[in-house]
Amino acid sequence: MRMPLYGLAVVSVVACLAVACLGAPAAHALSQQEEIRISREFRQAARQRLKFVEDPEVELYVDGMARRILEAVGNIRYPYRFFVIQDDSMNAFAVPGGSIFLHSGLIERVETSDELASVVAHEIVHVNARHFARLSSASDATMLLGVLGVFLAPVLGPAALAGQAVAMSRQLEFSRQMEEQADNLGVSYLARAGYDPQAAVDFMNRLYQERTLNPVGSPPYLMTHPLTDKRIGNLVASIRTRGLRRPRFRDVDEIHRVKLVIELRNDPQAVVERLRKAHDRHPEAAMPTYSLGIGYAATGRWIGARAMLERAARLNPAIPNLDRDLGRTYIHTEELAKAHAAFDRMLKRKPDDPITHLYRGQLFEKESRFRQAAGSYLRVRQFAPSWPEAARRLGYAYRKLNQPGKAHYYLAQSYLLRDEIGKAIDSLERAAQHYEPDSPRLQVIEDEIAAIRAGG
Ligand SMILES: [Zn+2]
Repeated sequence: MRMPLYGLAVVSVVACLAVACLGAPAAHALSQQEEIRISREFRQAARQRLKFVEDPEVELYVDGMARRILEAVGNIRYPYRFFVIQDDSMNAFAVPGGSIFLHSGLIERVETSDELASVVAHEIVHVNARHFARLSSASDATMLLGVLGVFLAPVLGPAALAGQAVAMSRQLEFSRQMEEQADNLGVSYLARAGYDPQAAVDFMNRLYQERTLNPVGSPPYLMTHPLTDKRIGNLVASIRTRGLRRPRFRDVDEIHRVKLVIELRNDPQAVVERLRKAHDRHPEAAMPTYSLGIGYAATGRWIGARAMLERAARLNPAIPNLDRDLGRTYIHTEELAKAHAAFDRMLKRKPDDPITHLYRGQLFEKESRFRQAAGSYLRVRQFAPSWPEAARRLGYAYRKLNQPGKAHYYLAQSYLLRDEIGKAIDSLERAAQHYEPDSPRLQVIEDEIAAIRAGG
């Protein structure tokens, strides 16, 4: 089954409306394999219906945060994937099988990366502790309908349908024990990953107060993760009894930068105008100068961006990632030597930064140094293996290097990561044609094709 899932879901929901068939499916626990398939089909349907934030800085920031938490979890049961949906409402949700979605509205509402990490960690526990499989009504069909229905309800349109979807999700609601486990394990992973566990409490307290002040218009996240003072009390106790502490050393938080990128996507002209006014009020302050530089860059005003970023660097050379921004800007102003110098400075401080490697790869491409470009993209892939764009660019670089076997191979990897299974198999078959019959590489490719076909 490739793409018909979404159509199927809508048809079935409508059918349910007609015959009131809620609650009918027999209980049967999902296997891990089934969960992974549901995850993929959900992603395929979601890509057709939802708008994703496709910005390397946002995607790689979230991916990096999530990988850090997964490292703390240790026993990873699923091929996790993380996505940011362009949607102002405050929400986050997990789909069985390890796909986790954050709304951009959630990122806009958190005050620190630690707060965002607390939500990510909570959702990871729901998946990794197999909460979905333990839901009593968790047959395949209800699971898919419930999850799809609730989260795609806003785009489905008709209110009745949305209401029905919410009713279905009630069947899928996690038990209080599951919520408690997600909270408790979540904060301990948070602490182990070097985030501040107290951030989970801060975030919940703020949401709680906001809801008290404005009970109407409660964000969707609170519908699926009911927030009570008991839940907050439990979390506070859990942090205390486990002796979880704030990390002693901290990097400068990148959340402000990420929020700015998201804001700029929503309404670039208005945001740049606001940044310009803020800068005019404090022309000698480093951060407003820097932010305006980012605003100019996001709207393609590269000369203005260069002026602001260089000025910010003079005012405060310690702004994190400033050299990365400068390097990227110099690519656009055709000052390639300066771009190299900026990326070198950045990589000296943060050798593992996938975003710097990505921009450096683009710089090498511009210089037609495709071998070096491929090297940079391989580094991106090393730090962010599930980000499809790195594989796509690698495929392009190898095509330029006249290595069609590798070119098709990496293109196939990018299709796989985008769940375009047919195209992935196509590209793998093409890659296979470029290898000798007894080459080990050919064996790898053939095994991969077989595994994809078996996974259906
Ligand atoms: Zn939850």
